[in-house]
Amino acid sequence: MKDRIRGRKLQRIRDEWFSLHPLCVKCVEKGIYRAATQLDHIVALTNGGLDFDEDGGKNRQGLCDDCHDEKTRQDLGHTPRVRIGLDGFPVED
Ligand SMILES: [Zn+2]
Repeated sequence: MKDRIRGRKLQRIRDEWFSLHPLCVKCVEKGIYRAATQLDHIVALTNGGLDFDEDGGKNRQGLCDDCHDEKTRQDLGHTPRVRIGLDGFPVED
């Protein structure tokens, strides 16, 4: 299996991308202008997505920390499922 990009190479790709696309794309969709801090694979590598050296710029997007955390959970299949109890608080399964 191919190693994912790390270190200095990743830093350079990220800097270039953020200089062109400085905002979190998911926040922009909600009308919030928040700086992107994470360069994200749109299709996660674990789901067969291409890494930044072979995606031609098509499998990447800038996200803020919060949106990146949320997406990572979804990519891993841990979509939070919250039920609200009669007392108005979330119920743990
Ligand atoms: Zn965001």
